[in-house]
Amino acid sequence: MTGLSGSTAPLQDIFDCALLDLDGVVYVGADAVEHAPAAIQVARAGGMRTVFVTNNAARTAQTVADHLTDLGVPTGPEEVTTAAMAAAALISAEADEHTRVLVIGGTGLRQAITDEGLHLVESATQSPTVVVQGFTPEIAWHDLAEAAYAIAAGAQHVASNLDASLPTERGFAPGNGALVAAVVAATGKQPRSTGKPGPEIFHQAARASGAQRPLVVGDRLDTDLAGARAAQIPGLHVCTGVDGPTQVLRAVVAHRPAFLGLDLRALAQVHPEPTRAEGWWTCAGAAARIKGEAVVLRRDGGDVRLGEQTNEMDVDEVRAAAAAAWEASDAAGVDSVLPVDLPHVRMVDQG
Ligand SMILES: [Mg+2]
Repeated sequence: MTGLSGSTAPLQDIFDCALLDLDGVVYVGADAVEHAPAAIQVARAGGMRTVFVTNNAARTAQTVADHLTDLGVPTGPEEVTTAAMAAAALISAEADEHTRVLVIGGTGLRQAITDEGLHLVESATQSPTVVVQGFTPEIAWHDLAEAAYAIAAGAQHVASNLDASLPTERGFAPGNGALVAAVVAATGKQPRSTGKPGPEIFHQAARASGAQRPLVVGDRLDTDLAGARAAQIPGLHVCTGVDGPTQVLRAVVAHRPAFLGLDLRALAQVHPEPTRAEGWWTCAGAAARIKGEAVVLRRDGGDVRLGEQTNEMDVDEVRAAAAAAWEASDAAGVDSVLPVDLPHVRMVDQG
């Protein structure tokens, strides 16, 4: 199944637990995403559980929970899974009485390792068997050097995540992946990573919440939705963060969502499945087809070409167009038949 799925009931009635990304899904910077707190409240009231899943390894589950509570989404630490917790769980699962862990990272990572009951050491001279590395702005050359010494002496290298960049108020700064790469440049040994887009963090979140039918919700195709595919959990993509409809239309197989929505209100909605008929892909009242490198939408006044006659689509049009674009791309054996410079498309509320 590489295309969009449909549902005959609201997603929150079909799936028992939402594994929600944070930035771009629940909040952007200091502010809650529009409709997010209310939509989460509605989903919870209907019986859906929520777990917040973040690649951030610097903050503890309690800190993340407090932040969400401040934004109007009352959350306990048991509803948070961080990449640090996923790394600690992986190390714990493989640990024996000889396991000693050198933590290169922040409070969140240190706390997660301690919570798993693992034996911490402070330096490479204490013969750690595992180096676990996560981001904190306090990391210095001395820390990276300790990691390199330990790994050279035979310790395993586990990274909480490999995000190359970190969005800040002033732009993109080096993320954990960049600092891990500095260690790898010295050791020549590739680490394992537990964060998105790997499946580990989602498996851990689903396990911790006892979810039977989890649903991943994210705003980034190459991390959240790729991780969902890797974990074989259906993914809902919302267009309130990094990737919008343009990126969805050009999504490669491994990054494609199972469901698509404008924002978290999509949890309470029934999702019609796109179907193919006489050269068109239709979804509810919308219809789209691919002509060469262009998306053509069938509208009341006649056919319109995306990027030329319109830059706006409603959610059913994006669903139909995505189904059409993905089918054409797969048939052509390419990542996407649509051009890299496909104009920016905005998804509009159906009202
Ligand atoms: Mg995000």
